[in-house]
Amino acid sequence: MTDTTTGIPSPDPTRMTAAAIADGIAAGEFTAVEVAEAHLARIDAVDEKVHAFLHVDRDGALAAARAVDERRAAGEPLGPLAGVPLALKDIFTTEGVPTTVGSKILEGWIPPYDATLTKRLKDAGVVVLGKTNMDEFAMGSSTENSAYGPTGNPWDLTRIPGGSGGGSAAALASWQAPLAIGTDTGGSIRQPAAVTGTVGVKPTYGAVSRYGMVAFSSSLDQGGPCARTVLDAALLHEVIAGHDPLDSTSIDAPVPPVVEAARNGSVEGLRVGVITEFRGDGYQAGVMRRFDESVELLAGLGAEIVELSCPSFTKALAAYYLIAPSECSSNLARFDGLRYGLRVGDDGTRSAEQVTALTREAGFGPEVKRRVMLGTYALSSGYYDAYYGSAQKVRTLISRDFERAFGQVDVIVSPTTPTTAFPIGERADDPMAMYLADLCTIPSNLAGNAAMSLPCGLAPEDGLPVGLQIIAPAMADDRLYRVGAAVEAAFGARWGHPILEEAPAL
Ligand code: GLN
Repeated sequence: MTDTTTGIPSPDPTRMTAAAIADGIAAGEFTAVEVAEAHLARIDAVDEKVHAFLHVDRDGALAAARAVDERRAAGEPLGPLAGVPLALKDIFTTEGVPTTVGSKILEGWIPPYDATLTKRLKDAGVVVLGKTNMDEFAMGSSTENSAYGPTGNPWDLTRIPGGSGGGSAAALASWQAPLAIGTDTGGSIRQPAAVTGTVGVKPTYGAVSRYGMVAFSSSLDQGGPCARTVLDAALLHEVIAGHDPLDSTSIDAPVPPVVEAARNGSVEGLRVGVITEFRGDGYQAGVMRRFDESVELLAGLGAEIVELSCPSFTKALAAYYLIAPSECSSNLARFDGLRYGLRVGDDGTRSAEQVTALTREAGFGPEVKRRVMLGTYALSSGYYDAYYGSAQKVRTLISRDFERAFGQVDVIVSPTTPTTAFPIGERADDPMAMYLADLCTIPSNLAGNAAMSLPCGLAPEDGLPVGLQIIAPAMADDRLYRVGAAVEAAFGARWGHPILEEAPAL
């Protein structure tokens, strides 16, 4: 965009916050089409290197942007995010636009309907640029399990951008979109946010509709906002959250006032819990240093710091890796080669069972197969009580640990991840090492409460982003934003600029 009277380029919209873009469009400083074109040009320039997108919907994005400009020209009221571009994780169905879940088994499938979340974005005038890369069926912590190849971390393209929502986080960190959507079953919004220096929120379970979100582990899956600032995440949160009769686990209650909280950051008088179990072996020194500084910062801002123990959290990973595979073994049964996407071996000589087996053999990647087998085993008669049953008991103990903790504090803080972004390939053949990336995020999924990750600095040893996790009780999502906004403002004042400005140019 160039100022036609002076010939001087106006501020680059790809560097703006979502809030500033929406304000600029509403004020007529630039059009939604100009903003969409600038982002599409950025995608053209850098996404070959980053590989954040699996599919770019150029025509759809421009049509959506044109519609916003027309509504503005007609004097119609615009929503708070009208005309703002967004990168959508390829797990949400989009009518007429491919949805693969990062899997070969859905290659070529064009959904006939929009997910509730997709529909809400469209109704709000948000411009969906395309669908982002992800670990197959959201199983992973690095996006290396995508059937379509890995995504690079914009801070260092040889490193992972986190997972499963690595594409969404990388799109934000490489200035390809100011907003993105992720899903968090065990950390897939927060962990990518942490390792890319962005903001990610897992809302309270049931806050954002799962209708049209391809199911992985239904009792844990939760869609949520990804952004570069706390306020932008809050604006997106308000657009996507709220009751949906099409999702039986959707919460029928008002959405907590997250935008108001993000505009009024404060921790004055707040009790902030620090969990003793979230440190020790396996935690990178630079991550703990930044975390300890964050706790000092919170104390300096007027928070009261309380040390807490949540002993059951040490068993969260084990419980999760029984519950999530069990649910996925049931959910993925629908991919039978008959109803959606890929079909292999249907040459008239084979039975339906044989076609299903061949389709799954060809269509599912190794991590998905591993989990379906594990889950089937854990649910089988004779083993059910020992594995799935025990895991559910641990889940209850974790919820009780949280209840006790929230009897003493308003929010809990921890590092989001034990380490910064690791090199692509380093953990690809070691599932156990990969699973450890979600050590601090999984307890909140098991308990169903709300949690956010936001940048708290760069680790001194590798110069890579570190995430601070904030956890709030269920339906107190606004506390995340109130605390997050205060922390973001304090760090911003200390650093003199947003952390992403320090990422090397692509
Ligand atoms: N990394 C975790 C897993 O592989 C979490 C994934 C997620 O949140 N979708 O299951």
